Amino acid sequence: MEIYLDANATTPVLPQAREAAMAAMAEDFGNPSSVHSTGLKARALMDGVRARARRVLGAGQGRLLFLSGATEGIQTAVLSALSALRDADHRPELLLYGATEHKAVPEALKHWNALLGLNLTVLPIPVGRDGRHDLAWLRAHAARAGLVCTMAANNETGVISDLDGIAAALAGSPARWMVDGVQALGKLPLKLEERRIDYAPFSGHKLYAPKGIGLLYVREGAPFTPLLAGGGQEGAWRSGTENMSGIAALGAVLAALEAGGTFCDAATLQAHRDRLAAALQEAFPGLLFNAPTELCLPTTLNFAVPGLSSKLLLDLFDAAELRVSGGSACSAAKAQPSYVLEAMGLPAWQTAASVRLSFGPVVDRSFIDEACARIRVCGESLRESCLDPSAPGQALPADGLTRFVVDGACCYLLADASSRRAVVVDPLPELTERLAQWLRCQGYALAAVLDTHSHGDHASSAGDLWQAIQHEAGSVDALGWPRDIKRLDLGDRWLTRLALPGHTQDSTAYLLHDARGLRWAFVGDTVMPGALGRSDFEQSAPLAYADSLLRLREVVGEQTLLLPGHDYDDRFASTLAVEREAQPLLADVLAGRIDAAGFAAAKAALEQDLAMTAYQTVACGARVDSSCSLAASEIGLADLQALVARHPDLLLIDVREPYEQRLGQAPQLGTQVRRQAVALSGLPEALVQWQSLPPDTPMVCFCRSGNRSAQAARALRRLGHAQAWSLRGGLALLPRAAAADAALAI
Ligand code: PLP
Repeated sequence: MEIYLDANATTPVLPQAREAAMAAMAEDFGNPSSVHSTGLKARALMDGVRARARRVLGAGQGRLLFLSGATEGIQTAVLSALSALRDADHRPELLLYGATEHKAVPEALKHWNALLGLNLTVLPIPVGRDGRHDLAWLRAHAARAGLVCTMAANNETGVISDLDGIAAALAGSPARWMVDGVQALGKLPLKLEERRIDYAPFSGHKLYAPKGIGLLYVREGAPFTPLLAGGGQEGAWRSGTENMSGIAALGAVLAALEAGGTFCDAATLQAHRDRLAAALQEAFPGLLFNAPTELCLPTTLNFAVPGLSSKLLLDLFDAAELRVSGGSACSAAKAQPSYVLEAMGLPAWQTAASVRLSFGPVVDRSFIDEACARIRVCGESLRESCLDPSAPGQALPADGLTRFVVDGACCYLLADASSRRAVVVDPLPELTERLAQWLRCQGYALAAVLDTHSHGDHASSAGDLWQAIQHEAGSVDALGWPRDIKRLDLGDRWLTRLALPGHTQDSTAYLLHDARGLRWAFVGDTVMPGALGRSDFEQSAPLAYADSLLRLREVVGEQTLLLPGHDYDDRFASTLAVEREAQPLLADVLAGRIDAAGFAAAKAALEQDLAMTAYQTVACGARVDSSCSLAASEIGLADLQALVARHPDLLLIDVREPYEQRLGQAPQLGTQVRRQAVALSGLPEALVQWQSLPPDTPMVCFCRSGNRSAQAARALRRLGHAQAWSLRGGLALLPRAAAADAALAI
């Protein structure tokens, strides 16, 4: 069963609201503008819902319009207030909005301000560390303002605005006042008419009504300009045939609010929230709440955990079938910080790592019990993966290779369970704390911290890592290799090194061997997927580069897996054979068609005007093949079932991280399917094993949403696995029942 804790985004529709909507579609389907009996019934229903809303909202003599939702309500209110300002004798200077307002508000202000040619100054009202408006600032600016927009409660943090304080700060101001009541509906008494609020938008889908229905309160006498002109519905204030099923459903929700019994009271909600907060603190020691709970809606918790990204937490919660939301939106390359938390002045890590957990007022104890239990399970899963700094020694012993990527830069952790030792290759400063904590938690000794070269875009953080674990590196060279040894043993594997001057004078590859032979090579930036390391740095040796590439081939051959120092396009690994096809210059060198000087000149030409990477970092090579050209490798459920029918023993690969794999189910696809759990971070190690598979072996990767599995499938295809697929939409789109049926059918 899914536990849905994202009510501030949207809610399910109450059963009685669904029934009311169905009735308004099937039986009482009239158009309220029609004058026959069917129409009159619809009108009566609509009038009844409006009267109920008036009582619930304390709307008094004000107007209540039905419209599509809060975004439309906000546009209408802003258009109305700004149109009046345009026609006024004395134009004010300012349009003010709370800095943590929903984006619909500042965007509407800027849009209509420009469109109406007002060109007033649009300014955010600062908020304090507690998320509340700076009332002194507001007081100082109120006299010059034409419209002030403040929300009743914030959707990200749940912080409740001090509406009476704002009203006092506006005393004497000519400004109109809009209060976004979306998150307050059903949770706070708004007393619209008692306060001097001019406009208040509401949205049905935040309180158990369907999407597409909303309300706008307009104070009696406040200026009004319709957004939609047409058939004259809603007294010509909002034309367009009314959304009767939405209105009927909203009516059922308001009826439940008025009658009591369905919605929990504030004290009960607070008790629920406190239990969730306690479960979170227990599961994630060190967790910080991003807003003072006593100032927040009793249904919202916004938090961050030091050292854990919001992406990691979302994946973890989702695997436990707990739906929460990231306080910050994630773009492809980087997590965007939350502008709400930024406005509150929170530190950067907190603004980027926030998670929001929100529930609606229709909730019972058993739901909260289950949510708390799953939160605790999430915490345990992290501890087993050594991701909980406060709980050393509870982890499962790690073995093998893990890859970390920060803005395209790769760092590798090579662990050996038998000797309880680990080697880090190309440490990154952003990972120092995480790696140190991992080592402490596993109780592993650090055998070496190796750099493949002195990096152009960052200083080595090897020293910091040694310091963080309070050990000395011992006698090592500038790249961290222990002096006077030729090979570095790690259980039954060992590393050797190979000098490859070019990208830098000191560029070195580390070669990993086991009893079966050479397994893979950490090649730094000498050969990256789709690029050769740039050779125009001060510390580069461009004339030595071509020879180094030939030496690399001589020692590792063309099929050994190469693990790069940078991987901007999520290709994970490569081989000289693959890169020879992708990079003409490399092909020329390996074929002996170009000499050292010619190669250096050709590279210099490639590196001219090298742009920054998508991560705004210095590009470490000129990329010559584009990720867009990679074959589409997604597969839907129906095609997957057909594939399983043809290849009952296909390889099904769960690429989620171990802390998710421990919690979640996998698709049911018949008993012969070979299953492998290979987290994306462990893909490089698995790629070596899969090199021995026939290249046409069907391999289907899956994850939560289809993003990570798409990365894995693309990487596999690039390495020659022509039948590598990614399950489209991931587990999220997999109909559980259908998956089970499929299992029976196959
Ligand atoms: N205002 C707030 C505070 C919200 O949370 C939202 C929805 O996320 C909106 C406005 C926009 O509402 P709607 O989805 O009805 O357009």
